[in-house]
Amino acid sequence: MDFFNIHTHTLTCPESEILSQSPLQFPADKRTIYTSIGIHPWELTEENAEDQQKSLQKLISNASVIAIGESGLDKLQGPSIDVQTNILRQQILLSETYSLPLILHCVKAFNELIQLKKEIKPQQPWIIHGFRGKEALATDCIRHGFYLSFGEYFQENALKATPLEKLFIETDESEKPIGSIYQTISDTCGIPLKELNDYIKKNVKKVFFKA
Ligand SMILES: [Zn+2]
Repeated sequence: MDFFNIHTHTLTCPESEILSQSPLQFPADKRTIYTSIGIHPWELTEENAEDQQKSLQKLISNASVIAIGESGLDKLQGPSIDVQTNILRQQILLSETYSLPLILHCVKAFNELIQLKKEIKPQQPWIIHGFRGKEALATDCIRHGFYLSFGEYFQENALKATPLEKLFIETDESEKPIGSIYQTISDTCGIPLKELNDYIKKNVKKVFFKA
């Protein structure tokens, strides 16, 4: 069985994963097939913001780019939340203009993120990657139309509260193979692995390949 990995920083299985890249690292390894490109709050400074945004804009039309991200808000790392919000807004605009879904990193800034979504009412899907929040937060995010992507670490009840049609699976920086993360999620949800994989494939097609 092949398992689609929507968010990784290491090229492992190019035909079934989205490699997340910063505009400063691009172009990726030549074997890369699918990438998401975005300005990570950890790599953002007031000084490099403009340069990063400019190269992002140039690289966005590269054929491998199927999403924007990871971008987002992080209250524990990176520049001030104002600087982060400003650069996130520009990436939201790119996501809307180029019809590319947005992969989001969010640490302790869920209220701000939900407010942005309510204000902007984007047409493009927004996916919160590496979701580790509790059940109530998961429910809240889903109510506001977010997709949630789960990796190696998560809260069991949050996963169980996430409808299968809103679910993605990723490795991010984990060394565990994607198949073993699918297996854990299949066991936790009590869904056969094959059935889980079919659901995720459907979501991947819909969100990233507009099929
Ligand atoms: Zn990541």
